[in-house]
Amino acid sequence: MEQKFIAAKYEIVSFDSIADIYIINTCTVTNMSDRKSRQMLRRAKQLNENSVIVAVGCYAQVGKKELEEIPEIDLILGNNEKNDIVEIVEQYINEKNKFDEITDVMYQKEYLDFGTVTYTEKTRAVIKIQDGCDRFCSYCIIPYARGRVRSRRPESIIKEVESIAKKGIKEVVITGIHIASYGKDFKENIGLIDIIEKLNEVEGIERIRLGSIEPTIIKEEFVQRLKKLNKVCNHFHLSLQSACNETLKRMNRKYTIEEFKDSVKLLRDNFENAALTTDVIVGFPGETEEEFNITVENLKEINFYKMHVFKYSRRKGTKAAVMPDQIDGQIQEERSRVLINMSNENQISFNKKYIGNNVDVLFEESDGKYYKGHTTNYIMVKVPLGFVKENLENVIKSVEITDTENEELIGRI
Ligand code: SF4
Repeated sequence: MEQKFIAAKYEIVSFDSIADIYIINTCTVTNMSDRKSRQMLRRAKQLNENSVIVAVGCYAQVGKKELEEIPEIDLILGNNEKNDIVEIVEQYINEKNKFDEITDVMYQKEYLDFGTVTYTEKTRAVIKIQDGCDRFCSYCIIPYARGRVRSRRPESIIKEVESIAKKGIKEVVITGIHIASYGKDFKENIGLIDIIEKLNEVEGIERIRLGSIEPTIIKEEFVQRLKKLNKVCNHFHLSLQSACNETLKRMNRKYTIEEFKDSVKLLRDNFENAALTTDVIVGFPGETEEEFNITVENLKEINFYKMHVFKYSRRKGTKAAVMPDQIDGQIQEERSRVLINMSNENQISFNKKYIGNNVDVLFEESDGKYYKGHTTNYIMVKVPLGFVKENLENVIKSVEITDTENEELIGRI
């Protein structure tokens, strides 16, 4: 959206500045995100009462009625309207044409291609390859906000990555709402692995990173094809959510913990030093002490490099929100602490193993004290500036690790 406004000769200013138009890309993943989105919409109008306030994105998509009650908002646009946002805002400004036809994404069959508008950092670009999700996990509102699985055409993805590579960017992160479902909606037999293989051929790209991925896709054939690709990074984020089968069932997740462990083993057997990360929800409705203990024991066995721990948060409109036995906040807090401690310990011991070894680092920037970059398995490495004689930005170098500091590695070239 930002790039569309820039192309139409608008000047982009920071959110806290006085602006003529404020675009708030709302999130609806939890009740709290709804509340934060509403606060931001109101705050924007306070910054300039003559401005045009636009609510767009997932909360606008599923919560139009609620947003209509907020007088500060001028326009409410869904996810599909992002593509035409400049025209819609201009019609409102020029003709007071109040847009009122949010597209129902549940019936959207094709991927809405925004063209080459990738979000890029200095050395890394995030490439969206699909939208939507058909999984309907019981706690999640995303399928309603994003609709069914729609995949981006391979030609469009490759074209974008080639243009990114020409700009000198070396790393791409493949992302989407549910990338394991990539290609499900195509007539041809094309899946995620086919796209990764094609990306591996793009000249100039040196690293391919997979965004969060459902473990069900990590099967023998997939991994055998993946390991042949020299640019694929040995960092995998497998969304687990719970390590207890009973809880997984209530969550409507489509795997058992035994299947998940098989996927983990396959990755570890085929990717040296694979850093495996995950998301876990604690205090899901009905999660007994016994279920939580099963999760703890299985997590100890899996030994993730890092876990992102979330306390279950009720999202209205989902099945889990009306389930019996909602868990008390205090218990959620305690369970969360147990897993966060486990995650911190895992990370420290994984990192310590690097002392005395060499790793390849793609350097990003200097903070005045260190030059910083990431390993292929996404651990941050810092090299004191005293050891650096050249501009390392966007350069891959071998670094000898001498120490660790919190979650990071310290080394010298
Ligand atoms: S797979 Fe992910 S996006 Fe899809 S419903 Fe489940 S949690 Fe939500």
